[in-house]
Amino acid sequence: MSTPSLPGFEHLLADPRTPSAATSAGGAHDGAHDGAHEDDGSAARPGTPRRGPTREELLEGLNEPQRAAVVHAGAPLLVVAGAGSGKTRVLTRRIAWLIQERQAHPGSILAITFTNKAAAEMKERVEDLVGKRARIMWVSTFHSACVRILRKEADKLGYKSSFSIYDAADQKRLMQLVCKDLDLDPKRYQPGALLHWVSNHKNELRDVDAAKSDAKNKLEETYAAVYDLYQRRLREANAMDFDDLIMATVNLFQAYPEVRETYRRRFRHVLVDEYQDTNHAQYALIHQLCADDPEATEGQRVEPAELMVVGDADQSIYAFRGANIRNILDFEEDFPNATSILLEQNYRSTQTILTAANAVIGNNKGRKPKRLWSDAGDGARIVGYVADDEHDEARFVSSTIDELVDEHGVRPADVAVFYRTNAQSRVFEEVFIRTGQPYKVVGGVRFYERREVRDALAYLRMLANPDDQVSLRRILNTPKRGIGDRAVECVSALADRERITFWEALRRADEAPGLATRSATNIRGFVAMVEELQSMVDAGERADVVLESVLARSGYIAELEESDDPQDATRLENLAELVAVAREFSDDPVAGPSADPADVDAGTVAPGLRDFLERVALVADTDSIPQDDDGVVTLMTLHTAKGLEFPVVFLTGLEDGVFPHARALGDQPELEEERRLAYVGLTRARERLYISRAVVRSAWGAPSHNPGSRFLDELPVDLVDWKRTEAAQTSWSRPDLTGGSGSTRLATPTAAGRRNFSSAALRADAAAKSKPSREVPALEPGDRVLHDSFGMGTVVAIEGVAEKSVASIDFGSEGVKRLLLRYAPVEKL
Ligand code: ATP
Ligand code: MG
Repeated sequence: MSTPSLPGFEHLLADPRTPSAATSAGGAHDGAHDGAHEDDGSAARPGTPRRGPTREELLEGLNEPQRAAVVHAGAPLLVVAGAGSGKTRVLTRRIAWLIQERQAHPGSILAITFTNKAAAEMKERVEDLVGKRARIMWVSTFHSACVRILRKEADKLGYKSSFSIYDAADQKRLMQLVCKDLDLDPKRYQPGALLHWVSNHKNELRDVDAAKSDAKNKLEETYAAVYDLYQRRLREANAMDFDDLIMATVNLFQAYPEVRETYRRRFRHVLVDEYQDTNHAQYALIHQLCADDPEATEGQRVEPAELMVVGDADQSIYAFRGANIRNILDFEEDFPNATSILLEQNYRSTQTILTAANAVIGNNKGRKPKRLWSDAGDGARIVGYVADDEHDEARFVSSTIDELVDEHGVRPADVAVFYRTNAQSRVFEEVFIRTGQPYKVVGGVRFYERREVRDALAYLRMLANPDDQVSLRRILNTPKRGIGDRAVECVSALADRERITFWEALRRADEAPGLATRSATNIRGFVAMVEELQSMVDAGERADVVLESVLARSGYIAELEESDDPQDATRLENLAELVAVAREFSDDPVAGPSADPADVDAGTVAPGLRDFLERVALVADTDSIPQDDDGVVTLMTLHTAKGLEFPVVFLTGLEDGVFPHARALGDQPELEEERRLAYVGLTRARERLYISRAVVRSAWGAPSHNPGSRFLDELPVDLVDWKRTEAAQTSWSRPDLTGGSGSTRLATPTAAGRRNFSSAALRADAAAKSKPSREVPALEPGDRVLHDSFGMGTVVAIEGVAEKSVASIDFGSEGVKRLLLRYAPVEKL
């Protein structure tokens, strides 16, 4: 499960020179969702008095069925269509149409997008069309919309409105505590698996009671008990996890018909993009808002809101998070009297790219066939490349980009490199670093996942919500202030005995039996510091000011400054960056994705710490796509690419076991989901598409041989121009795997051919080959290095000399490794 990242802040990290107010309309980045920059000018020409666009202007650049969808009134509307057919564009225009032509109050519009970035872009587009009044509409992700509702209504669910939102890392910590409390064998019960199980239940709207009564065996009973305690701990901490946000809102609407009616009255228009990826809980929410409400009493009854959903069943790629393709397939049953509109013209890609994508997705069973066509012309053939290994593949990508830039006027920002899993980005990063090609990894190791940033945020969250145990415990002794595990246990025991929160117990630590005097003194000091900082928060102090005080008062900065660990210098820079992020937010809270002018309207106070934390908590991977930067190539996983488009796309790692993922090889439904992911990847490309695979790829340090992806076999032969069809001849390459001759078709081995080789033998051979006798690199503490498996790192210490020298190298999230340099595949940068 992926964790959200900071909204639109990541560009600050990539290039500190980027001006802070980087939310200009219609940026140079082509991955825009509506991408409709070509008609941007129609709404507000300088010099013309603002009168709003005419009907014709609102419908400009739309084909017939698209127009029909925009002007449709009344019954629920489903727009189903393949990739690039303008679904997102139609949704955006419809909002403008509702406001301009049908005089819908912007506050009565709720539009749901898949990421905060998509929401920001949509808002911007609508504002371009109809002006600033559009600002008060709700355009957001499901999660953001639910948070807004829950903040207002939290008390009805027994929460305080200051509740925290736990992200994946917090959830994991909490789950570890739960397992400990229940005395579960950590080998048998892994927090990740338990969380996945709990998440599935929440996405299906199954609460603890349901889980308990459904449990059919001992194991399920244990899981249900875990769910139970996990929920209780969340509640005690006044916290919700991501899945809770949706489930709690659905529960709220169920339990309080009058609240439901309030929101039904408010949202007269509900629009949902990427509907194929909604899960059951999200579907239920939409249903509560937009279906007939049989429970409403006569006086309360309101006409259901007008609903429009757009989606493509072929692009459903989140089944593992509970997305249910049936939501789109069953729309007409769920909403009787629904209207459907089909879009068939693709405006994004060349016919070649489209034919290829259609051919691949055509192998999925039980789908409705689509006729998607493009009049953009055939364009260039798809270029294929079989690389010796992943480094060779990365070099191919890099040199091809150089060529495109030099000879075809392509800007690096036009280029995206896609791969199946995050870990695959490393090799591309290495080669881009070597060649000096600026790049951006979207959704990789993210800024806010770094330890120091998480610590700082934990301080802030604990200040905003002292019941937040996870945050409080995280920073209680960070930096070290003499409050050890034993002291924590004493305080915990007091909390349990007195049935008070951990924070209350800290304040009353003097009453804790067995607490050492020194610890008690240290805790008193800590409590005094926190209370002082809390008074700043209560006084409505700006987030950046609070943060700076936290970093100074806690001794966090001082500790880093005194350290000689080179990593700590980087940590200081990151914290400075976080302060800058908070400052930018405080200066201009309206400028960003989940900005909430409606609340400003409603007379809410100036944005403070809580608003900032909310912004930080609620973001998705794509939010960090760099904007307005011509020189940066974008690297991202296929999942992150949904909804985006790029003139040039490299689809890499097309190997069975990589993509499709190993997990999916023997499983038909999973394989079909992987194929939909391939369809998403292929259809992101506008003009040029490159596909590649590596014959040998090292995963976890051991080279393994992967046969070509079965998706390659599904591409029409004549559409692909293979630049290279086989690996270089080496002792371990098997000619029969790549076909032997230069024929196009043979580049993709047959199913029979790919299974009769011994991968173990290949692995052993290749491993032997990867250990040539070599010179020991001369390294010193502070040097930056590149390791084949662990990526980039910083040398922390060197012991021994020459052949025997051992380096301790900090690889960031991979941890510090001690490596015998004679063998370690490291290179000094
Ligand atoms: P996806 O399924 O990938 O989300 P989509 O159906 O949402 O795609 P859009 O992103 O809305 O498609 O549109 C794809 C591209 O086609 C965009 O660049 C958009 O501006 C352009 N486009 C859409 N409709 C038209 C049209 N009628 N005329 C010209 N260009 C169009
Ligand atoms: Mg779209």
